[in-house]
Formats: sequence, C-alpha cells, structure tokens
Amino acid sequence: MKSENEKYCTECGSLINIRAEICPRCGVRQLPPPGLIKDNRWLTCLLLCWFLGVFGVHRFYTGHTAIGVAQLLTLGGCGIWMLVDFIIIIMGNFKDADGNVIHNG
Ligand SMILES: [Zn+2]
Repeated sequence: MKSENEKYCTECGSLINIRAEICPRCGVRQLPPPGLIKDNRWLTCLLLCWFLGVFGVHRFYTGHTAIGVAQLLTLGGCGIWMLVDFIIIIMGNFKDADGNVIHNG
C-alpha cells in the first residue's frame, strides 16, 4: 500500500520515496505535480519592482522588453505605473512575457 511519504514512479510505477527526484528502480527523473513547481521569480521580481521599478527593470526581468523601455523613458510612468505593477506582483497576478503568472511560492 502507498503511504503518505511514498509515491508511484511516473515511469515504471514502483513505490518510491515521495521526495525522490530520480526513481531508484528505473532511473527516470520524476516530474513534480504542477502545483508544487515553485516560482522563484516572485520575490526577485517584487524587489526589482520596488527598488528599480522606475527603470522598468522588473519588466526587463520578466521579458516585457518594450514595456521596460517605456517605463525606463517615463521613469516608471512617474512612479504610478511601477506602483500599479508592484501591487499586481504582490497580489500574484503579474505575468511574464510568455503569459505565465508569477505567483508567490
Ligand atoms: Zn521508475
């Protein structure tokens, strides 16, 4: 039986340790469930926006180069634009250029 600290290998179906990254039986790397993929960009993005937001650095960081340039030229939309971005980032609704939401944790 499968216990709480075990999972099934995505490849061979063997019971393995839930924290195992590679199955000891078949050697195939285990893919974490989608919800468990950590997005480590959130804090970086938040800090970049707070300290360098008037230069659009958080926009460059997330791939929005054109918007980054626009913010750079307008000094973050006189601070308002970067403030709006900052709030969106805190709320976890900010998206990168590929449309992936940058959420906290
Ligand atoms: Zn396996």
